[in-house]
Amino acid sequence: MDCLFCKIISKEIPATILFEDHDVIAFEDIMPQAPTHFLVIPKKHIATLNDIEDNDSNIIGKLPLVASKIAASKGVDQSGYRVTMNCNQDGGQTVYHIHMHVLAGRKMAWPPG
Ligand code: 5GP
Repeated sequence: MDCLFCKIISKEIPATILFEDHDVIAFEDIMPQAPTHFLVIPKKHIATLNDIEDNDSNIIGKLPLVASKIAASKGVDQSGYRVTMNCNQDGGQTVYHIHMHVLAGRKMAWPPG
């Protein structure tokens, strides 16, 4: 499958990995949009939020859990952070393997652009 994030999972493409278990992997974003910017993704290839199935709920539920643990390990949990999942073109999705962005280290604007 020609999926960039599947290639990071299989280590065909290098990434700075922050966490990995059977279901989930987290790594630094290659083009950070904040002083802290990492991605948390399921190892199962799910193209968009629209493609999540009922039996994916355990895996998907791990994404915010891993995100918050890494945020704490980076010391940004108390100052705060933004979690974003972009879906399809209008949502700003560019990589079609779902991923949770975690951004921190600066004050986030609202509404997002
Ligand atoms: P999206 O626009 O789909 O919500 O987010 C995709 C994210 O993946 C972007 O923030 C982009 O910088 C990141 N990204 C794209 N290619 C790579 C890569 O090869 N390695 C890493 N670590 N991140 C990537």
